[in-house]
Amino acid sequence: MTRSSDALFDALKQGLADIDARGLRRRRRTIDGANSAHMTVDGRAMIGFASNDYLGLAAHEAIRAALAEGASRYGAGSGGSHLLGGHSRAHAQLEDDLAAFSGGFVDDPRALYFSTGYMANLAVLTTLAGRGTLVFPDALNHASLIDGVRLSRAQTQIYPHADIDALDAMLDASRDETATKLIVTDSVFSMDGDIAPLARLVDVAEKYGAWLVVDDAHGFGVLGPQGRGALSACALRSPHLVYVGTLGKAAGVAGAFVCADATVIEWLVQRARPYIFTTASPPAVAHAVSASVKIIASDEGDQRRAHLASLIETTRAMLKRTRWLPVESRTAVQPLVIGGNDETVALAAALDAQGLWVPAIRPPTVPSGTSRLRISLSAAHTADDLARLDHALTTL
Ligand SMILES: *Cc1c(COP(=O)(O)O)cnc(C)c1O
Repeated sequence: MTRSSDALFDALKQGLADIDARGLRRRRRTIDGANSAHMTVDGRAMIGFASNDYLGLAAHEAIRAALAEGASRYGAGSGGSHLLGGHSRAHAQLEDDLAAFSGGFVDDPRALYFSTGYMANLAVLTTLAGRGTLVFPDALNHASLIDGVRLSRAQTQIYPHADIDALDAMLDASRDETATKLIVTDSVFSMDGDIAPLARLVDVAEKYGAWLVVDDAHGFGVLGPQGRGALSACALRSPHLVYVGTLGKAAGVAGAFVCADATVIEWLVQRARPYIFTTASPPAVAHAVSASVKIIASDEGDQRRAHLASLIETTRAMLKRTRWLPVESRTAVQPLVIGGNDETVALAAALDAQGLWVPAIRPPTVPSGTSRLRISLSAAHTADDLARLDHALTTL
């Protein structure tokens, strides 16, 4: 008889064999040196279309220098959680910078810095929602929002992707006047690159007395004037908005922030478990993010966004000429739907052989039958990089 401790081993081995049989095994690739458009991957020089470094800031000299300077000023680690001795001047300064930069949607904005976007989303949802709250998430929301909703134990009604009429009908049907209602959405959807109808979402939220949580992981730094984000891009204002921006994508460093009315933020400080029960990230990281936000807001940021916009237009035209199905996207996320897993993986491998790193996205990340290449553009790419990708896609 197998012991139950061995039964788990057997189940894991069987599970991994199933993953292989379905062509779904994921492998990590190791990058030597800095992550930028041109990099060394598993020892080979490659052009990367896999990162979320939309503005090409991850390897930026001034931000690296700020990180080093932050380390020499503040040391390596924070030493504690934010409420118990780990909150540094660098964190406080960054929160002020971020509230001023992205808080234009509310009268009295405040920002709270988190170690990761995943934790920021868990914090927002578990703190603002609970049993008795009605949560309305978009069907294509990011996993961190899904997990946050689950952990909140709120009642959930998922609305079909970007379907505001369906959402309106759901809110209309839930005539519980006393329950708190929370609509939750990505701004830019990470696997399709499309942008949520944020103006209509704010309208519908106001109509039914709901709050709206917007995860702008792929919009902060890229969308809106000076890259202030998706809310700023549509000039939206409401005291019932909660904004989450992440700082490891366009900002090129790490962490995330929640920006909202000061009352909401103070409540998170008091109650959010993913904020309270974790060591504050190194102050040097926050110091580097402050340097990054300055660049994002500057003329250099505008130039980088303009270059990225031109790369996006070139890519859209290029993907239309291939024999596969591009997804209509005006953002730096440009998907090309191939269909089956094996075909998608084979295509990614053929590109890889030509020194082009374009990740294959398969279920469960995307629905079955819609496996795709996900081309992520960065201001660090050149027109020549795209010409190489174009050549490969049209000759394969
Ligand atoms: C990347 C991402 C996150 C998580 O942010 P991290 O800082 O990487 O943990 C959250 N939401 C969306 C939509 C994302 O794309």
